[in-house]
Amino acid sequence: MIRKERKARWVYTCPTCDITVAGPDQWTVYEFQWHHVRSLAHGFEQLGHAIQPVIDAYVAAARALAGTAEQFQKDYALIPPPNLPHDPSLLRDRRKWGGR
Ligand SMILES: [Zn+2]
Repeated sequence: MIRKERKARWVYTCPTCDITVAGPDQWTVYEFQWHHVRSLAHGFEQLGHAIQPVIDAYVAAARALAGTAEQFQKDYALIPPPNLPHDPSLLRDRRKWGGR
């Protein structure tokens, strides 16, 4: 974006790259904008901005997956499951489950 700050001071600011260049007239600044927009640095910056949501989603998914894995290890992997039958009639069978 090119703007005039004051007399003989024109400023170009690239919205994606945070690059600011000042010049004495509009044409100088416009030429810099022309070269900058076609430069590799600006292209890669644009590419990064385009890909950034995908990267953020991937990182969030990976974090969530690691979190669930840690939670699973905390909750299930270290504590053995209770050695009890699902059938309540077997629980009442005192010969096998804690009776005399
Ligand atoms: Zn740029």
